[in-house]
Amino acid sequence: MLQGLSQLGAHTFIWSPAFEGSGAETAACSAAAAGLGTIEIPLLDPSRIDVTNAVQTLSRHRLRPTCSLGLPADKHAPDNPDGAVLFLRSAIDTASALGADWLTGALYGHLGHVTGCGVTDAELSVIAEVLRVAADHAATKGIRLGIEVINRYETHLVNTAEQALELLDRVDRPETVFGHLDTFHMSIEEPDVAAAVRLLGDRLGYVHLAESNRGAVGTGLFPFDELFAALREIDFDGPAVMEAFINASDDLRSATASWRPVAGTPDQFVQTSLDHLAPLLLSGSPTHVS
Ligand code: MN
Repeated sequence: MLQGLSQLGAHTFIWSPAFEGSGAETAACSAAAAGLGTIEIPLLDPSRIDVTNAVQTLSRHRLRPTCSLGLPADKHAPDNPDGAVLFLRSAIDTASALGADWLTGALYGHLGHVTGCGVTDAELSVIAEVLRVAADHAATKGIRLGIEVINRYETHLVNTAEQALELLDRVDRPETVFGHLDTFHMSIEEPDVAAAVRLLGDRLGYVHLAESNRGAVGTGLFPFDELFAALREIDFDGPAVMEAFINASDDLRSATASWRPVAGTPDQFVQTSLDHLAPLLLSGSPTHVS
């Protein structure tokens, strides 16, 4: 279970649309100042990041990186599996060069791409093959892959923990590929937060912390006390990363329907969230914080 703040992280998008230049420095400096040990770096275009500078910035602030992405529109896995594999290989190589041990997110598709129908067996077969090939490459680099469960309005492919488990079974790379739950998406799709966590159990590898309206943790409807009690129950020991799109790129703000400021300033978001999370992280038993 999460023993303290060392495995708690924050997403770069809280501070900057990319982990580059002064944005990288601001994000890393702020995350470290808040006492966080992990920062999530977006790899929406893995070829663009200045790896040398990023590694120096991470080292200067003693931060451990994780990486995440959604596939580009023309690399949506069911439509372009070969393109998806090439893109994921490139992202895995970049994540490795950054010193990350996680690449997670919508590794299976492009956010906002829906077909008007539910997910099909054919789509899942193609996605599983793409992720299997990517996983075999990731394993050679010591990188774990996460399948992020995302709500119905952003994808039709993986909306629930149950669907993630089914996809994990199809991919069949249990040492390398894990489920990733995000509390914003859970607040839309999961009727029972603890049951979703228990269902994935030791196959849950990664968690995003965000409110039901993507605001600061503790300011919305999500039952974080239930979440952390369930994480403790399954001995969760992966990264738990606060996610907000306060300074995300225009593309990402559009893809996530981030039209209004809902999370305050970066400092307000982080401090408010940490104030709510600290007792939940450190307590040995479920704690209710009103
Ligand atoms: Mn997320």
